[in-house]
Amino acid sequence: MKDKEKTTEQLLNELIELRRQVAEIEAADTIEVNTRKLTEDAVEEARKYSENIVETVREPLVVLDTDLKIISANSSFYRTFKVAPENTVGQFLYDLGNRQWDIPKLRILLEEILPKKTEVLDFEVEHKFLTIGRHTMLLNARRIIRESGRSHLILLAIEDITMRRRAEEKLKKLADELARSNAELEHFAYLASHDLKAPLLAIGSALRLFQRRYQGKLDAEADRFISDAIKGAIRMEKLISDILAYSHAGKQGKTFEPTDCSEALDISLANLKDAVESSEAEIIRDPLPKVMADPIQMVQLFQNLIGNALKLHGEERPRIHISAKQMGKEWVFSVRDNGIGIPHEQTKKIFEIFQRLHGDKYPGSGIGLAICKKIVERHGGRIWVESEIGKGSTFYFTIPELTREKLSSLET
Ligand code: ADP
Repeated sequence: MKDKEKTTEQLLNELIELRRQVAEIEAADTIEVNTRKLTEDAVEEARKYSENIVETVREPLVVLDTDLKIISANSSFYRTFKVAPENTVGQFLYDLGNRQWDIPKLRILLEEILPKKTEVLDFEVEHKFLTIGRHTMLLNARRIIRESGRSHLILLAIEDITMRRRAEEKLKKLADELARSNAELEHFAYLASHDLKAPLLAIGSALRLFQRRYQGKLDAEADRFISDAIKGAIRMEKLISDILAYSHAGKQGKTFEPTDCSEALDISLANLKDAVESSEAEIIRDPLPKVMADPIQMVQLFQNLIGNALKLHGEERPRIHISAKQMGKEWVFSVRDNGIGIPHEQTKKIFEIFQRLHGDKYPGSGIGLAICKKIVERHGGRIWVESEIGKGSTFYFTIPELTREKLSSLET
């Protein structure tokens, strides 16, 4: 009754107020719905985004929860391990594929190592899977703490390195075989040269005796035959002594001692005196350091390199520059010449035994640089050449530096 007493105006005002309140509530509802929708969209977008990332990764990837149940995996994972998504997602990792993933080393990673760290990199696991056979995997495991802080995710990125490991094993096997056959060959060359040395010396000296006694007493042709035979015997003697030197070079010769390289160079130049003088060579030498080395081998090294530079010169008289520069913890020695040069594609080959580039035009056995390589490697260094045809070559080799502590400990 009271209402009835209200004026029409009052009723209208109440209606307007009610409408306003409803509109307000409706507006609030819309905002809430919109916000919820926006959040859901964002979550969906983030999920798609992360799924895309997981999918784009070329290596197998699997996401686990803290109970080691699989939350998701990418197609590379399914492909590599021949498992179907429907048999994967939601599974306990170790149960996957008839418990094929129950790998003791994987358990150690996930249960012992990862809980103490947030990330474990390059963890190698080898396992024989029923479906795909023996595989070597490199695992990167990472614990991702969710924003709520309550639960963790475990990201397991897998690199299948089976092929790489197989190739490495094959390479190692080949390298071992090569080393063994090289050692056998060297041993054979050593024995053969050693056994050939005595009869060859006998032939050489008999020929020389023959020449001394009968030179000029027979006809000119006989003189030439004898002289050719002697030249052949000399070449063979040199070849044999070079092979013996080569097989000795890598063996434990004299132990290393502080060696003044300038002194080693002096001796090698004295040994090459005739060749230096006859070729009128110009020798430029920079101060050289002391290194830990076998002094006899250092002489041999300089002698082989400078001997080649004297021998393989071009039109101009040989100009040879010997130098050394300290770089990091090693000395880089160089022997530069202005000789005939070496074609770029041959610069590695010449360090192999019996490799000669310039035929009979220049005498040689093709062993000198192989000896240099053995010597340098025995000293823990490297040897290489940079060269330009017609301009000259620079042979470089490195020897580790002799530290002050090492020197003083040796001197006291
Ligand atoms: P050898 O000199 O006895 O033939 P090496 O092993 O010392 O044997 O050298 C191998 C080959 O490398 C030589 O036959 C020559 O063709 C090339 N060589 C070496 N040193 C030089 C150099 N300084 N300049 C040009 N060619 C060189």
